[in-house]
Amino acid sequence: MTTKPILSVRNLSITYPDASEGLHALDNISFEVRPREFVCFLGPSGSGKTTFLRVLAGILKPTSGSVSFMHHHQPRIGMVFQQSNLMPWRTVMENIMLPLELEGAGNIKAQNKAREMISLVGLKGFEDSLPRDLSGGMAQRVAIARALIHDPDLLLLDEPFASLDALTRERMWTELSNIWQAKQKTVIMVTHSINESLFLADRVLVLTKRPGKIKLDVAVDLPRPRTDDIRYTSHFGKLAKKLRSAIE
Ligand code: ADP
Ligand code: MG
Repeated sequence: MTTKPILSVRNLSITYPDASEGLHALDNISFEVRPREFVCFLGPSGSGKTTFLRVLAGILKPTSGSVSFMHHHQPRIGMVFQQSNLMPWRTVMENIMLPLELEGAGNIKAQNKAREMISLVGLKGFEDSLPRDLSGGMAQRVAIARALIHDPDLLLLDEPFASLDALTRERMWTELSNIWQAKQKTVIMVTHSINESLFLADRVLVLTKRPGKIKLDVAVDLPRPRTDDIRYTSHFGKLAKKLRSAIE
């Protein structure tokens, strides 16, 4: 594959200032992501995963090293967090429309686009529901729809399914996989779940404990579309074992 990377990270380190010598969160991270690639960073809690996504989103400046995007400007980014962070007083439709409203898009355009997203994430019929009436899985679907509505160049996912029960989480993997195939987005997801990373990603990069360093970069050569059965294949098991031993 010779496509140019959409993102190059070179020798990225992050130290949070604090009273003494500072907290070293990420150490010398280098990698590239190609357009439409689904890359997972897998690491234990505290390995700097959220810190890393904040750097990619342009919210946090690198202490050293660089993050460069194709075309050399900050790309449009959609982000999904562990909690859906929906506005409780806004309906599903109004939550999803928010990014377009902030960009000053007209109401009709925002509504049409929101309807398209609602059908993409399987929430038809819930347009006028409020967040308090949604299950955890539905709320995360709204968050995904909101992240995709302004057609981002890069989708950043910060353990988006970590707060869901196991069965809902597995259903969401299939949904996200389908959405990714339909929308052809470049995705960077961080997670501490080995199964989640293998089910979804083209590549899994394992981070060490703090300070987070890339310990292993594994190509996930499992066929797509991936179905639940894939987790019971011997190749899946082999990859899971490899990741597991790298994490510890
Ligand atoms: P993860 O998402 O993998 O759990 P984080 O990126 O949240 O890891 O945190 C990595 C380390 O940096 C942790 O030790 C955390 O306490 C520390 N940290 C995170 N945010 C800040 C901050 N704003 N100021 C100081 N330390 C921070
Ligand atoms: Mg985190």
